[in-house]
Amino acid sequence: MPLYEFRCPTGDQFEASFSMSQVPQLLDCPDCGQKARRRIGTPRLSLAGSAEFKLIDSTKRSAHEPNVVSNKLPPTGRSSPTRYTGNPLHQKLPRP
Ligand SMILES: [Zn+2]
Repeated sequence: MPLYEFRCPTGDQFEASFSMSQVPQLLDCPDCGQKARRRIGTPRLSLAGSAEFKLIDSTKRSAHEPNVVSNKLPPTGRSSPTRYTGNPLHQKLPRP
């Protein structure tokens, strides 16, 4: 994602990464909390597809959007028997 520069009324400058369709004109300053305007600058488009930039993006993303395991782990050992047929008459057959 391209990197954009922002500057707040008190003069703080910071950078933030957004997709080109979702970049806001105003963003809250992380230092003073005022609305910071986006500055006209050159987004780092030439590096956007490189492996280094993908690594930087994923590292930044993992700081505030870590991958969270939401499902239970698969059971270890013997699992429930796999059903091979949907015929209800086969349910009455003896189990191996
Ligand atoms: Zn500020």
